[in-house]
Amino acid sequence: GTWVYTFGDGKAEGTGAMRNLLGGKGANLAEMSNLGLPVPPGFTLTTELCNWFYANGRRYPDDLAAEIDAALAQVAALTGRTFADAKAPLLVSVRSGARASMPGMMDTVLNLGLNDETVVALAQSSGDERFAWDSYRRFIQMYSDVVLGVEHHHFEDILEDFKERKGYVLDTDLEAADWRGLVSAYKAKVGEILSKPFPQDPREQLWGAIGAVFSSWMNARAITYRRLNSIPEAWGTAVTVQAMVFGNMGETSATGVAFTRNPSTGENALYGEFLVNAQGEDVVAGIRTPQNITEAARLAAGSDKPSMEKVMPAVFADFVRTTQRLETHYRDMQDIEFTVERGKLWMLQTRSGKRTAKAALKIAVEMAAVGVISRDEAVARIEPSSLDQLLHPTIDPKAKRDIFATGLPASPGAARGEIVFTSEEAEKLRSAGRKVVLVRVETSPEDITGMHAAEGVLTTRGGMTSHAAVVARGMGKPCVSGAGSIRVDYHAKTVTSNGVVLKQGDVITLDGSTGEVLRGSVPMLEPELSGDFATLMEWADGARRMKVRTNAETPLDARTARKYGAEGIGLCRTEHMFFDAERIISVREMILSDDEAGRRAALAKLLPMQRRDFAELFTIMSGLPVTIRLLDPPLHEFLPSTEAEMADVAKAMGTSVDKLKRRAAELHEFNPMLGFRGVRIAIAYPEIAEMQARAVFEGAVEAGRVTGKPVTAEIMVPLVMTLAELDLTKARIVAMAEAVAKETGVTVPYQVGTMIELPRAALLAGEIAKTAEFFSFGTNDLTQTTLGISRDDAASFLGPYTVKNILAADPFVTLDQEGVGQLVEMAAERGRATRPTLKLGICGEHGGDPASIAFCEKVGLDYVSCSPYRVPIARLAAAQAAL
Ligand code: PEP
Ligand code: MG
Repeated sequence: GTWVYTFGDGKAEGTGAMRNLLGGKGANLAEMSNLGLPVPPGFTLTTELCNWFYANGRRYPDDLAAEIDAALAQVAALTGRTFADAKAPLLVSVRSGARASMPGMMDTVLNLGLNDETVVALAQSSGDERFAWDSYRRFIQMYSDVVLGVEHHHFEDILEDFKERKGYVLDTDLEAADWRGLVSAYKAKVGEILSKPFPQDPREQLWGAIGAVFSSWMNARAITYRRLNSIPEAWGTAVTVQAMVFGNMGETSATGVAFTRNPSTGENALYGEFLVNAQGEDVVAGIRTPQNITEAARLAAGSDKPSMEKVMPAVFADFVRTTQRLETHYRDMQDIEFTVERGKLWMLQTRSGKRTAKAALKIAVEMAAVGVISRDEAVARIEPSSLDQLLHPTIDPKAKRDIFATGLPASPGAARGEIVFTSEEAEKLRSAGRKVVLVRVETSPEDITGMHAAEGVLTTRGGMTSHAAVVARGMGKPCVSGAGSIRVDYHAKTVTSNGVVLKQGDVITLDGSTGEVLRGSVPMLEPELSGDFATLMEWADGARRMKVRTNAETPLDARTARKYGAEGIGLCRTEHMFFDAERIISVREMILSDDEAGRRAALAKLLPMQRRDFAELFTIMSGLPVTIRLLDPPLHEFLPSTEAEMADVAKAMGTSVDKLKRRAAELHEFNPMLGFRGVRIAIAYPEIAEMQARAVFEGAVEAGRVTGKPVTAEIMVPLVMTLAELDLTKARIVAMAEAVAKETGVTVPYQVGTMIELPRAALLAGEIAKTAEFFSFGTNDLTQTTLGISRDDAASFLGPYTVKNILAADPFVTLDQEGVGQLVEMAAERGRATRPTLKLGICGEHGGDPASIAFCEKVGLDYVSCSPYRVPIARLAAAQAAL
């Protein structure tokens, strides 16, 4: 068909490769049908139809109705059931399914096709009157909520009133006649609210549901989820209509969710949960705590509820075979939804399972080890930014654990923060720079922003596949779910467990790897970087061309970066070394000096400290290249700004507040980022550059003696716009190199290069390369100066820019390839045309951003440089870019 693709009975019009058109769910149902697996027949309405729907004022094309009729006829032929038939009625589910999985963000309708007549037929054919009326009332409630806009609580109120009147406690206390009565009450309620009856015609129901599911593509939570996950709106969602199978037809029926490997640890063992006599959404919603699928998992969890392996061994065996077949076919860990209807297994969904970074590494490494995938594929499969999760701390095993409660280890890593109970509160505190843990009875898609703002998430209900668990794992946030001993009181803003009461603002620590919830702020440990991580990184290193360096100025940062695999320092921002209590005094003395002699006297005090700094960095980097940048920021940044500070500083320096103020006023600039900074300081006060160059060379001599390895010193001049600036500065550096060589008898190999941070420097790169031996693209400043957007103040208006799709991403996070990228590419070309050996790197924040790193590979840079914690991400991203 044009808009409709059918599947079922061992064949399908679509295939697994058609996920752009059929969505993930539709494509995989087609694929499973083609594989001959037991899939209830149905059909998928394409994402193109979704786009047509939105492009045409939420209407449908003229030929759609005939296609749907034909597809329904095919489902009828395969199931022996027909829409609205009084004897054998066809019931269907209507589900969303986008190209990328968006768990729980869009709408679903189940049991569609029930009405006053077909419910009787369902009772007869199932031999279970209670089940039939229960299904009908579920349908009325779901359909009314999703399609007609009548909210759940209307129905819940009716049900609660009824139970109270009858003295019932549980839903299972209700009998067939009770549900029949409730169906009448539900319909009456809908009639009362909408002034028209609940639709009885299954076709009308179907069109309503299709429209609602397409419309849910544009609901607020779907829009938020797309923004957080960079999913384009233009993809649209598909809608799958599928014959219903029932997991709630008694004790031989069940429904469940399984992963072919453990999604938390990656362990190669079937892992999942199921509920006997339940319908699909019950497992995901986390309302009943489910049972394990395998005996092994049940034992490991210490659960006293029997496993599927025990209660339905034959179906279990069939299920195990099917899951193995799916994993082999897709060559990846699968996340599977299934239903057992009276002892018969039905597969409802399969997809690549979401997993933690730890599990992703283990699965990729193990699959490559047995040859299911290649090493390159293993490298390509790991999302570079997900490595962040592994670089997160864990709880120090030696720390004292004051256990408040225990739940399921739903998403690993440790998190600590103040307790908050709502998304709004989480966001509010987060934007005030505070760390919070979101505590909820259970989470729903509305909580997505709060989960994003929180360090970690704690829920009292729900299993490992509950909403909270799935979403937290995707975000890489620690999560403990299903902590049953906890009682949350949203009203009083307290959380109680075993008699201990904590309130909003109290600090707790979550251990997402064990499921423990600890009181207070517990010490944490840096992560272990061995095992699968080390193996995969080694494969990545073998695949990449570009080098990865780090931006570092402290010994701690330099050591951390080396531990993470940095191959040198790409940027040492020397100004950061000037802020310590002892040095800042000499720095200020230099700034306040009236003449060169005064400045030189102050610089002489700084020299030994800088020499020690550089010697230490060179020693740590032990022969790897180290790029040291001359002083860059506007000098006023080193002067005090408040009255009180001014008074203190004036006293400490033996000068007057007046003089300090006068100097600060002289240095004040309206546009400091375009002001007296960078190479301009070296031009005005060359003695500063000379002191720094001397410190570099003397430090290099010292480090060379310690390590026995020659130091490769690269001195970098910031904010250059003309060759003349660089020439003047380089001359001072060269003179200093010669002086130190003469004094020490040691010649230090070195290079002098420049940052490319101004459009003019990019344009004149061919000229500048006459002197520069390397370029390092300072894309923070280059973005600022090319876009004319201040890097420090942009947040206030960049938000709406990305929301309105004016800019695809924050240009200070992901390089603006279209604009700034042109300058980078051009400068690289022009520079190399002048000097073929010119070394090219990047040291702006973009050097740690995977998309920007791919661009750097494309234009042929030699290295990227990023903050220490991003080094592994950059190594992997650089490898993927090269594959
Ligand atoms: C840059 O501008 O990209 C850069 C690395 O320098 P800084 O961030 O120190 O200005
Ligand atoms: Mg800069």
